[in-house]
Amino acid sequence: NQMHILPIKLSNTSYNVHIGSHILQQAGPLISSLLSVKKVFIIADENVAALHLNTLTDSLNLAQISYETILIPPGENTKSIHNYEIVTNQLLERGIERKTPIIALGGGVTGDLSGFAAATTLRGVPFIQIPTTLLSQVDSSVGGKTGINTPTGKNLIGAFYQPEIVIADTHTLDTLPIRELKAGYAEIVKAGLIDDVELFEWCEKYGQYIIQKDQKYLTTAIEKACAFKARIIKNDEYEQNSKGRNLLNLGHSLGHTLEAELGYDGRMLHGEAVALGCCLIFKLCTKMGLCPESDTHRVIQHFSAIGLPTSIKGLPTKLSASNLLTHLKHDKKVKDGKILFILVNGIGKTFTSQEVTENDLYQLLIDD
Ligand code: NAD
Ligand code: ZN
Repeated sequence: NQMHILPIKLSNTSYNVHIGSHILQQAGPLISSLLSVKKVFIIADENVAALHLNTLTDSLNLAQISYETILIPPGENTKSIHNYEIVTNQLLERGIERKTPIIALGGGVTGDLSGFAAATTLRGVPFIQIPTTLLSQVDSSVGGKTGINTPTGKNLIGAFYQPEIVIADTHTLDTLPIRELKAGYAEIVKAGLIDDVELFEWCEKYGQYIIQKDQKYLTTAIEKACAFKARIIKNDEYEQNSKGRNLLNLGHSLGHTLEAELGYDGRMLHGEAVALGCCLIFKLCTKMGLCPESDTHRVIQHFSAIGLPTSIKGLPTKLSASNLLTHLKHDKKVKDGKILFILVNGIGKTFTSQEVTENDLYQLLIDD
């Protein structure tokens, strides 16, 4: 049970990401060595609770930490104002105190909703991330973005709120459906595409082992992705610098647009939307003469080898380009009415731009 520890250092805070196989058993002792607490609240979705809650509660018992559990329904729809209200009411009715930590046990949906509840309940209680999807282990549990969706779009209400500790147990991925695993993998590739050619090449070489849930390659992939994220957020915790955190949104404006059309009922997963969104950006940049066609080809090739979507026409559902454009305009990354896009000059070479016109986008969406 070797445990890898990756420190995340920010200006006002720092915390460790623990990565390894079968480390959920050590959560109780890890937490009690960090925070002197007698009680925690666990928030988990029903799927994850059925599979992994016992391991966590056994380890809390071991460390003599008592707990209360709040179960939420699985799925993207759960990240809503309605569920935020239910969860925070439960926390308050059951007597949460300023020093009582909230543990998010689950994927990005659980982490984002619980993190926002932790950031806002009593103006902030300690927060602990125990991510159980590949997506949450490589991306959403690290970096401090928390939030919920509204009918207008994804993640439009939220807060920056860092966890005290992240515990990523690769063994929990044994029960994760393969489609979810692949969706999480897309965020690792995205990291490579942003500014780490070596990571992208590593993915081309070893991606298949990750899809086969090889524990060793999973641990390495999570470490690489979290180290990448730590490097990016270090100098831009609150996404204020155009060459900072912003870049993490490569493929996401288009991705969120696809999710707005197909995501809330599970026809498209976040990671699938990110894979397709990245392919669309590469295609757009090749069309605009910014990116060599060979790089775009390589990106499409790799996502499709893994079994992730790479074109709009390849999707089982027909989408209207004008609906997609409407959603795009509601994205968070709008400045002075113009969408801030992350564009590419090639693999690992990203930059921000507001120069993409509505016509460029419309053409891209109807041609693809
Ligand atoms: P998720 O939380 O919905 O989990 C996916 C599914 O897998 C759910 O049905 C869940 O019940 C199930 N599941 C989770 N762990 C399991 C396990 N070990 N075994 C079996 N089933 C398991 O989805 P996700 O992909 O983890 O997260 C997606 C969300 O994360 C999106 O809402 C996205 O916006 C958000 N996100 C946030 C950030 C951030 O920085 N905060 C970054 C990327 C994505
Ligand atoms: Zn994402």
